[in-house]
Amino acid sequence: MNHCQNSRYKVTFRLAAASLSVVCIMNNEPHSFFHSGAMYDCMIKVAINGYGTIGKRVADAVAAQKDMKVIGVSKTRPNAEAFVAKQRGYPLYIADISKKAAFEKAGLKVAGSIEDMCKAADIIVDGTPGNVGATNKPLYEKLGKKALWQGGEEHEVAGFSFNSSCNYKDAIGRQFVRVVSCNTTGLCRIINEMDKEFGVTHVHAIMVRRGSDPGEIKKGPIDAIVLDPVTVPSHHGPDVLSVLPHISITTMAMIVPTTMMHMHAIQMTTKKPVSKERVIELINKHPRLGLIKKSAAIKSTAELKEFAMDLGRQRSDLWENCIFEESIYANSNELCFFQAIHQEADVVVENVDAIRAMMGGEKDAAKSIAATNAALHFITIQNNH
Ligand code: NAD
Repeated sequence: MNHCQNSRYKVTFRLAAASLSVVCIMNNEPHSFFHSGAMYDCMIKVAINGYGTIGKRVADAVAAQKDMKVIGVSKTRPNAEAFVAKQRGYPLYIADISKKAAFEKAGLKVAGSIEDMCKAADIIVDGTPGNVGATNKPLYEKLGKKALWQGGEEHEVAGFSFNSSCNYKDAIGRQFVRVVSCNTTGLCRIINEMDKEFGVTHVHAIMVRRGSDPGEIKKGPIDAIVLDPVTVPSHHGPDVLSVLPHISITTMAMIVPTTMMHMHAIQMTTKKPVSKERVIELINKHPRLGLIKKSAAIKSTAELKEFAMDLGRQRSDLWENCIFEESIYANSNELCFFQAIHQEADVVVENVDAIRAMMGGEKDAAKSIAATNAALHFITIQNNH
């Protein structure tokens, strides 16, 4: 986990009385790092462009990592989230520098423009709304910076769609990566795991999607079940193929009046016969697959979020797929189950791994996933009940 080992860095070692300190000369500027144990900690400088639902979570997850630091976050207007950034100590950069006075009048110090922030970063996490992110690509290209986008952008914006459990190695050293959406992340994790063990011949998945995030007051529906879209397949199936191109999958989706989580009803057919016991074993071994055991007596997203809150998870985030043990039905070559996906959370840990892969310091997906999870004190939910 040492991106200082890149040959373009000149590294000198200084033996101190109690510890070994390391000075890297990067782009002719000295950067100090500390050595703890066997690891040279060479902090990756991360900028978060778009400090909203996903951006603020990624910022906190990055800040928790030993090998990364947040060098800035961006906002378009002063609001509550900007005050949270200030409280966390994240330098605040703004999209429209002519609004600097308005930020400062509100008591929010402005560190500079988004371009200033990007210049100071090794890598930019673009957390701006869907389709806005793509408009930032020319800036990242002009500055020669690495950048990663979210699932609201098309695959083509980066030319590579990422999921840590499926294709971490292929992201190593890339300049541009797109982390797939919350639903696609949840689908990829479980499909890939079942495919490796049983060989998946076809997946049929129905997504019951939350209408809006809890903080979004302008979205609905308030009283309807909206087919999203009416036509089959929904975009989720093709999106899974951007990560797992060999999988045969059909998806359907609808939106319902809830804010907490999505629910997936999944049916797979497999080459080899499936057993419920083995499926549970595989879920338990996976660092990002959660199992809601019968003993928890949870039958809804509401009870699940309540559990996450009571467990003291930050923002009551569920970073793992939440697969309902009792729903797992295995019969010969057929596997069915329900899984709940916390839309605001599951992609956050994937962003952290994507940063590590792109910076090239950690070549092993399992080690990155373990480091990300450990820094967040994230152990999958079945280990809490
Ligand atoms: P959001 O609206 O909550 O946050 C976006 C932030 O970007 C806001 O703070 C906004 O002020 C800021 N912003 C807008 N235009 C900007 C600009 N030009 N420059 C800088 N900042 C700007 O959006 P979100 O829900 O966090 O979604 C971000 C991305 O993540 C989208 O691609 C979305 O599809 C994806 N995503 C969202 C979720 C979810 O459930 N919210 C889940 C997975 C992926």
